[in-house]
Amino acid sequence: MSRANLKIPGAVAVTAAALAFSAHGQSIESGHEPFAPFKIGEGLYYVGASDYTSFLIVTKAGLIVIDGGDAPVGHQVLQNIRTLGFDPKNIRILLNTHEHFDHAAGLAEIKRAAAPDVKFYASAADGAIVAAGGHGDPFLKGDRFYYEAVKPDVTVKDGDKVSLGGWTLTAHITGGHTAGCTTWTFPVTVAGKVRQALDLCSASVLPGYKLGKTETYPGQTEDYRKSFAFWRSAPCEVFIASHGSFFNMKAKKAALDAGKADAFVDPAGCRNFVDRSDAHFREELKKQNP
Ligand SMILES: [Zn+2]
Repeated sequence: MSRANLKIPGAVAVTAAALAFSAHGQSIESGHEPFAPFKIGEGLYYVGASDYTSFLIVTKAGLIVIDGGDAPVGHQVLQNIRTLGFDPKNIRILLNTHEHFDHAAGLAEIKRAAAPDVKFYASAADGAIVAAGGHGDPFLKGDRFYYEAVKPDVTVKDGDKVSLGGWTLTAHITGGHTAGCTTWTFPVTVAGKVRQALDLCSASVLPGYKLGKTETYPGQTEDYRKSFAFWRSAPCEVFIASHGSFFNMKAKKAALDAGKADAFVDPAGCRNFVDRSDAHFREELKKQNP
């Protein structure tokens, strides 16, 4: 969940206009418009929608998919995988950045279309909420945030590795936006060079989140601090994230189309995003705890 289309449950409705700009000064349009799939690096493809992302990794032992978008996007992800010439029946690993509906609601449909032995990996905190179809989130409550539940097959802890067909992805629990928000890192070859990819969960402080003395969930403020420290220390060359707006997906795709083969290699953009998000977090913390 970014700051778009959010209604604070039981409180003031946040209008689309008020949220036309995210914390990072980028406009966020409807996140689930269909978007043509494309290749980012060797074996790494974008298969998500206009803003809610999904990534496909093609290994010699089957396919890995990270995130399912919201419910309509789940179907688009499957279509995008077919458009690229791959068969969803070969999806053997399903990963998730976090339990919010805009990244987890499409997972059920993707899992149904996947290989019979597909395994869904999620963190303990967020996996429990995906297993309950969005119920149990400390902040987003109401039917519009609930979705078809998917039970994780494997629970990942910080530093756990997930391997398939020569690829290894590492899970980093980067809480704050959600308690079990998971950033995934992995090496990928882009334009002939091995690069470190980082799929950033989310660093957003949603309007209405409580920080400091009173928290949306216990430990949230410290979680954000630890996550920003991790994102600063982690190699982030191929910068990708749960929302396209976080890493300027559309502008980079245009640059890719214009011939810039390493358009998604953007360590400075990654660092900049983390710095801006941290500044917004600290500003919000200060505002709430004068
Ligand atoms: Zn979210």
